[in-house]
Amino acid sequence: MSKRDLYEVLGVSRQASADEIKKAYRQLARKYHPDVNREDPDASEKFKEISEAYEILSDPQKRAAYDRFGHDAFDPTRGAGGFGGGFGGGFGGFDFDDLGGGFGDLFDMIFGTGSSRARQRSNRPQRGADREIRMEITFEEALFGVEKDIQISRVEKCDHCKGTGAQPGSAVNTCPTCKGSGQVRSAQSTPFGRFETVRTCSRCNGEGKVIEKPCSKCRGTGHVKKARTINVRIPAGVDTGSRIRLQGEGEQGLRGGPPGDLYITLIVREHPRFERDGTTLITQLTIDFVQAALGDTVEIELPGGASHELHIPEGTQPGDVLTVRGKGAPSLHSQRQGDLKVVIQVSIPKKLSKRQKELLISFHEEDDKPGKKGIFEKFRDAMG
Ligand SMILES: [Zn+2]
Ligand SMILES: [Zn+2]
Repeated sequence: MSKRDLYEVLGVSRQASADEIKKAYRQLARKYHPDVNREDPDASEKFKEISEAYEILSDPQKRAAYDRFGHDAFDPTRGAGGFGGGFGGGFGGFDFDDLGGGFGDLFDMIFGTGSSRARQRSNRPQRGADREIRMEITFEEALFGVEKDIQISRVEKCDHCKGTGAQPGSAVNTCPTCKGSGQVRSAQSTPFGRFETVRTCSRCNGEGKVIEKPCSKCRGTGHVKKARTINVRIPAGVDTGSRIRLQGEGEQGLRGGPPGDLYITLIVREHPRFERDGTTLITQLTIDFVQAALGDTVEIELPGGASHELHIPEGTQPGDVLTVRGKGAPSLHSQRQGDLKVVIQVSIPKKLSKRQKELLISFHEEDDKPGKKGIFEKFRDAMG
């Protein structure tokens, strides 16, 4: 048995609070736990020392005895403090392998985390898992909203046995092994003291009940896979990546727990003529150079088939963007409607009649650009 000062072992002061001692112990035990620290041959020795110090300092009575008598308080040969037999005798021959598989449980109990607690909870109602599916919708459906019926299958309570798993008319008995609690407790003596382990009852799998004759429809599981039709309302203004949550449409809960939620992630198909950037819609419009120069009013088709009269101002340049207010995508979060941006392309005619060419030459002459005149004059001469 180590004769190092126990406060020193844990690296705390003699005035340390119970919380400080616990915290120091947790940190050190994590560091020196032999399962974690296999390379260090001294780890197991250090872990014993730390655990031993904690065993004493975490118990107010033992701590008081130690403060008064030191290590002698726990020496069975001295019998001074009356705590003999605790660590003194048993610890010497202690080997971690002696605990075998039980050590994990012990570790969990010390740290209050992990599998033991998870198993303890297993008898309680449990919320069903959330589910996530993807749904593709058209560009217009995203703009105007849509209602759709979708079919998904989920595990549901078997209606033949009402979820009990027992064939109707047959008995459901309280589990004799765990007496209905779903848990089996067993005490374990270790050099750290006595620990109680709680395990899920293996006979009833934690249900607390045993079935005489399993249900013929669900084979005793109490649930079956069922296809369901769900009506999904997709609001106007959704976009790729928008998620719709349908409360309670996820997986069924266990032991009376509520069902999880269903999340639908939307993917919006592309449109041949429109692009979308948030609430802004973008489209291209090709006009001829005369429309661009003189201005015009043209009818453009909006998504969904409606039309809009677009005014093209005189002197519109290629690449100019005309904004149509309020004809974009609706906002999902407000009443606002975005704008439509029309990007103008100007087409140059490839074939002109003789008369058109003459008109253009006159146009050019009218425009009066010195220096270029010569070329056009030659051109007109050539045409006769
Ligand atoms: Zn059934
Ligand atoms: Zn049981």
